[in-house]
Amino acid sequence: MKDSPILIQGAMSVETAELIGALANAKEEPFGPWRCVRGELFGHPVVIQETQWGMANAAALAALAIERYQPSAILSQGTAGAHDASLHVYDIVLGVQTVNESAWQSHYRPAGAGAPYDDLKQLGVFAWDAEKNAFTQEVYHAADEKLLAAARRAIPTYERGKIVEGTIGTCDSWNCAVDRVNFLRQFYGSLCEEMEGDAVAQIAKSFGVPFLAVRIISNSILKNQDPWDLGTGPACQRFVMNVLKEYWSAT
Ligand code: SAH
Repeated sequence: MKDSPILIQGAMSVETAELIGALANAKEEPFGPWRCVRGELFGHPVVIQETQWGMANAAALAALAIERYQPSAILSQGTAGAHDASLHVYDIVLGVQTVNESAWQSHYRPAGAGAPYDDLKQLGVFAWDAEKNAFTQEVYHAADEKLLAAARRAIPTYERGKIVEGTIGTCDSWNCAVDRVNFLRQFYGSLCEEMEGDAVAQIAKSFGVPFLAVRIISNSILKNQDPWDLGTGPACQRFVMNVLKEYWSAT
């Protein structure tokens, strides 16, 4: 357990460079074209993957890392767009749970009756459930309690904005229509949207690896805080380092 690393993913270099720069004994160990760096943070082993955007990339790399490194935990971190109007750029969301916001079924409508974006029912995705000994269709994936507790203890270290807890929504989409964002907020309860977290949560759950998503608000169409603020990537990584410090101090 002590020697097995914690896997930390970020989609873009601006979401991973700060962590990679903080590593001792850093070793580049790519998966094909994807960057993957192993090293130590505060004397503990970690693996950082730069996944590029999107669910398939992040989930595939998580599965490969599980096979290669047997990580003791996985953290998906980086930027996200706000779904809740109370969130500002630089606020952070601790993912008590994640949800795949492309997993839905539309209600039947005949030809010509249109396809309204909000006439849906939730579908969920299939993760392995060890307790039930079956693949079960789940809408939400819960965070690991120990990782979440460490993130809560790290809250006082963060000064750039507020930190809230709730649901993080994942989808290979970028929603810029306010009505649709408001619908997603209400339909899934999501505080923000990104493109990786729940896909990784699904794989982590299936392999029994503790998981947490931590996301910083980089843009909000609800607050006219678009486009993306590049400074949020490093700020999130610095907070994640403090989460890890708390996690290791308790284990
Ligand atoms: N548009 C900017 C930055 C894109 S950020 C650019 O051109 O460089 C894209 C990444 O940030 C994705 O991996 C996703 O997880 C996250 N992200 C940030 N804001 C998002 C939003 N509003 N919707 C979906 N994903 C978002």
